[in-house]
Amino acid sequence: DAVVLYGGPADKDKWMNTDGGPLEWKAKDVLTVVPKAGDIRTKLQFGSVQLHIEWRTPEIIDGNGQERGNSGIYLMGLYEVQVLDSYKNETYYNGQAGSIYKQHIPLVNACKPPGEWQIFDIFFTAPGFNKDGSLETPGYMTIVHNGVLIQNHVALLGPTVYSGTPSYWKHADKLPLLLQDHSSPVSYRNIWIRELNNF
Ligand code: MG
Repeated sequence: DAVVLYGGPADKDKWMNTDGGPLEWKAKDVLTVVPKAGDIRTKLQFGSVQLHIEWRTPEIIDGNGQERGNSGIYLMGLYEVQVLDSYKNETYYNGQAGSIYKQHIPLVNACKPPGEWQIFDIFFTAPGFNKDGSLETPGYMTIVHNGVLIQNHVALLGPTVYSGTPSYWKHADKLPLLLQDHSSPVSYRNIWIRELNNF
């Protein structure tokens, strides 16, 4: 029951730039960030999902900390799972690869060296909202990185933000999946997603 979001160039029409224009990333056998082209998103929208996504940071190291192989996978376009070259690369603890950005630290650093393909299997439960806009149930995330559990059903505090305290605001039940352009030519491949019913 999975929907393939990127298996090769035939799937490029499933994506667009978040500014509303056509996809500006390199869409060949793999999907690669074109620095400064901007974030991209799926045309389809999703709520709770299982997401499989493979990513690769540049083999040639350029920069340090957050400037090294940075990208991001935003569930519902709001909740960022950090993509970063965290192989022997120090940065703030809640901004490393596999962190729920500025909210939850991965249980362990499971990063492979730059230039190698890595896998995230993400299990995401969308938050629920009451009619008055208040939060009914938070979002949850479980993440397996290269076969290792790194986030174990952690409760999200709200959309991930760079600075300030995260807080929820009522949003749609389904929203696009977003991939971040953070000025580093990170690649993605073999992206598939399964919609999960809310129980
Ligand atoms: Mg990022």
